[in-house]
Amino acid sequence: MIRRTPRRNLATDAMSPAAAEIRFAIRSVLSSWSALVAEERHLAGPVRDIAELARFLNRHLDWLAGHPAAGELVDEVRTLVGTARRIAYPDTGRRVRIGHCPHSDCDGDLTALIRHRGDRHPPRIVCTTTPGHSWPVTWWNTLARQMRTKEREHETGIRAGRSDGR
Ligand SMILES: [Zn+2]
Repeated sequence: MIRRTPRRNLATDAMSPAAAEIRFAIRSVLSSWSALVAEERHLAGPVRDIAELARFLNRHLDWLAGHPAAGELVDEVRTLVGTARRIAYPDTGRRVRIGHCPHSDCDGDLTALIRHRGDRHPPRIVCTTTPGHSWPVTWWNTLARQMRTKEREHETGIRAGRSDGR
């Protein structure tokens, strides 16, 4: 069901199953990466608490950036962030399609999430296929520029592929 009014009593509201699930997923992912750091660096790992795990990983960020699995870590965290954001800021507003996602390997479309009046969550620009492609609306100018560049590259590619050169 779509909630039309903001929650009145956050403190006594039970956590939604989706929120509990993403919380569990975040803790699992952070704790497995913390375990990797602890093992490979011969350190004592942190307790299984999201804030502690995040602090621990943050302290070893430079080391992690040079790890062969760094890309995997980035992908996993990006997916978690996207999912958590969708759960925390449910889509209760209107979607307006604004063009193709500027990410080079993404076929998604960008839509602006226009919130209902009274919705405390800020409006965002989100991609229809990749949860991590999500920006605050203040990024609009930058995104529009990237979208134009991608379109130009695409058109140039099509023209270059033609044998008659037109
Ligand atoms: Zn995208």
